[in-house]
Amino acid sequence: MEQRLIILGAGESGASAARLGQREGYDVFVSDAGQGDPKFLQELEEAGIAYETGGHSRERVLTASEVVKSPGIPDTVPLIVELKAAGIPVISEIEFAARFVAPESSIVGITGSNGKTTTTMLTHHLLVSAGVKAMAGGNLGDSFARLLVDHPAQDVYVLELSSFQLDGIVAFRPDIAAILNITPDHLDRYSYSLEKYADSKFRIALNQQSGDHLLLLADPISIAPARRRNRVNAAVTLVNPDREVNGREITVDGHTFDLAGGPLSGRHNAMNALFASRIALLLGVAPEKIAAALTTFQPAPHRMEVIPTADGRTWINDSKATNVDSAYFALEAMDGPTVWIAGGTDKGNEYEVLHKVVENKVHTLICLGADNEKLLEAFRGHIGHIIETRGAEEAVRQAKQLAQPGDRILLSPACASFDLFKNYVDRGDQFRHHVKTLTA
Ligand code: ADP
Repeated sequence: MEQRLIILGAGESGASAARLGQREGYDVFVSDAGQGDPKFLQELEEAGIAYETGGHSRERVLTASEVVKSPGIPDTVPLIVELKAAGIPVISEIEFAARFVAPESSIVGITGSNGKTTTTMLTHHLLVSAGVKAMAGGNLGDSFARLLVDHPAQDVYVLELSSFQLDGIVAFRPDIAAILNITPDHLDRYSYSLEKYADSKFRIALNQQSGDHLLLLADPISIAPARRRNRVNAAVTLVNPDREVNGREITVDGHTFDLAGGPLSGRHNAMNALFASRIALLLGVAPEKIAAALTTFQPAPHRMEVIPTADGRTWINDSKATNVDSAYFALEAMDGPTVWIAGGTDKGNEYEVLHKVVENKVHTLICLGADNEKLLEAFRGHIGHIIETRGAEEAVRQAKQLAQPGDRILLSPACASFDLFKNYVDRGDQFRHHVKTLTA
């Protein structure tokens, strides 16, 4: 009998899963509770795939043999609860797509609280620079299903995976998995339990077998789930920055790579480079090729992005730093007096861990949020000068006045952006625009 695949959510992952399902001979229907993105609705239309928007027709959804759910839909919504109670499998697009990967292709899965995008792109760059046929996607850029539709038969698929995507896997099995770090983020989706969140990240290793590889950060929180589960079939490699990062040099399996003068600034990027180089070595890339490619990588925007100006100050757009840990690494990387722009939507942040690094480096804090009360309270007495602003232009104007020549001005908000901006990209774009205009 023809399999009826119902897809909830007409976004990037939903539309591409629908395309893949159609290619593989499923009877496909897409249902979106909202209006759906016109771009993806058009894609469905052009492919002749049936869909509905503005609500899920419950009866129809319940006829599914299998449901692919967008990672944005929590497991607790009534329809998902009902589907599960009816015994209908609800899986993620990653799980669905993985079924159609050719046996000779390798899958690299990269997760963690911070550094996923950078490490995924860097791994991809190290591979393609060495002539390996590879594509990157997943939680960034093209979804896994789209990669399989548009770019079949790659040697390697490098996937960025969020914990929401990992929650929906059943048999997904990466040949190489990496958990970069685990720090509190998105705890609202995990009953405010760090343990549950860590276990969710650890699902990346759920189906691994001997011969597969699992790379873990050598710190207690990252290792704990392995202990709790006490059954890891993959070969585990602990990545230990205390030993393997030395200034701007990293050492991986006896090979030393120099990051100085290259684009991967800050200790956090040295850690990302440790993971990416190790993955490339495991996939057979020669160390000399890795050394060369580490210097030609182009990081994505909004991540410690230096905005070129001629005003003698260093303006850095780190808008993607939406949690305390990523802001910590950004502040740590500052090598001179700093004006720090932070704030936005609070995610239950605890700021104490920043006090020391802030006292050492930051002379001025510019709060950029609709409600700055928590930030003001957290840093009063720790930073000499604190002011409030409520827009990117005002923040840049103030920063320009308060920063001396030679200073760094760092936008690394430690918060989400939804109070004043559409998203972190909008926040970073507005910041860059005003920096360019006001320093011209
Ligand atoms: P993700 O995709 O996990 O959000 P990104 O590579 O987009 O990660 O980086 C997000 C933010 O975290 C950026 O502000 C970046 O400067 C910071 N960051 C990058 N790598 C790390 C890391 N290994 N540890 C902590 N922070 C990091």
